[in-house]
Amino acid sequence: MSEQIEQALEIFRRFLKSKELKITRQREILLRRIFEWEVHFSAEDLEDRVKGDGISKATIYRTLQLLAECGLISEVALKDDRRMYEHTYGRDPHDHIVCVDCKKVFEFDGAAIARVEAEIAKRLGFAPMGHRLRIEANCEALRKTGKCERQEIRLG
Ligand SMILES: [Zn+2]
Ligand SMILES: [Zn+2]
Repeated sequence: MSEQIEQALEIFRRFLKSKELKITRQREILLRRIFEWEVHFSAEDLEDRVKGDGISKATIYRTLQLLAECGLISEVALKDDRRMYEHTYGRDPHDHIVCVDCKKVFEFDGAAIARVEAEIAKRLGFAPMGHRLRIEANCEALRKTGKCERQEIRLG
């Protein structure tokens, strides 16, 4: 994991350099906090996590934007249309199911869907560059027992 963080840092450094930007101490802290973290998070969650590190809200938002631009994190269409992120570098492609009752998030392998998308895109003369998919679903446990006790699924 820590090796992955160093690799991600190096990619970020190179990306910033190509835009004539520097990796600041704040940006490095943000990247580390995100990569040490196995969750889907919003900008507000990240703000909470780095409270005390003296990082401004503007820097947090700007850094999220830059990290997404260079492909280290991606935006996931999740809870209540709030903008959520996750780090994707070093992870297999996956998509998300959201339980509409409890709002828990379940990840699943995205390979089969990626194949279908590639096929459709090819037929229409496009090369896919990314996608966002969210399945909204009614949790079965809740419907049966009135209580949702499922745990969120996060793939490795
Ligand atoms: Zn549920
Ligand atoms: Zn995810």
